[in-house]
Amino acid sequence: MPLDVIRIPALSDNYAFLIRCSQTGRTAVIDTPEAAPILAGAREAGWRIDEIWNTHHHADHVQGNAEIADLEGAPITAPDSEADQIGAVTRRVRPGDRISLGACEAQVLDVGGHTKGHIAYWFDQEKALFCGDSLFALGCGRMFEGTPEQMQAGLARLRALPDDVVVWCAHEYTASNAKFALSVDADNPQLRAYADEVLDRRGRSEPTVPTTMGREKAANPFLRWDDPAIRAHLNMEDADDVAVFAELRRRKDGF
Ligand code: ZN
Ligand code: FE
Repeated sequence: MPLDVIRIPALSDNYAFLIRCSQTGRTAVIDTPEAAPILAGAREAGWRIDEIWNTHHHADHVQGNAEIADLEGAPITAPDSEADQIGAVTRRVRPGDRISLGACEAQVLDVGGHTKGHIAYWFDQEKALFCGDSLFALGCGRMFEGTPEQMQAGLARLRALPDDVVVWCAHEYTASNAKFALSVDADNPQLRAYADEVLDRRGRSEPTVPTTMGREKAANPFLRWDDPAIRAHLNMEDADDVAVFAELRRRKDGF
């Protein structure tokens, strides 16, 4: 079933997403950085917000929950292991669960690492992924709570998705991510073309989200731990995948 998506910019660089099953009209918001722009976006589209779905417990993803839940009567779906931190959660979901939005169905994926219990919502039929702060266009989330093993495993799960999956990530970080990506993978022609396009778009204040899984597999260093050129750049030709990922993440932290 087609899934309609409206991207809502919020705070300084967050995105929330209003998503709607076009057959039934059932609507959810993915993360709630702030209530006002989300409510305004829904009103402008003529959509009610039937449900709130959270990806992880950070304030810039949940702090609009209470106001939207109150005004719209929307129940809150969130990762089981972070539900107590989020509060007022009505449905706790775990990796492997399938949940529906009208006639559309999403699978809950474990993408822990940025936070331990971080989840993504993957609509396999509709080819849409809502991945919060786990994967970004040309980057990935900071590893606040998890281990490199956990985070690389989660990103490997995303990398296994088809190339035509549309990736709706929760921040506009792409321009700075592109600079780092070029610092470790300068000769990648697909990255260079992508980075040029990002600078162009940002120069016109246009969003760079969504991206696609195919583009990210070709250009995002945090999905390319087995790429020979990146490994050579790091002098880690024979290291294991987790070690390469950990080194990339460590370098990005100091970039
Ligand atoms: Zn976060
Ligand atoms: Fe965030």
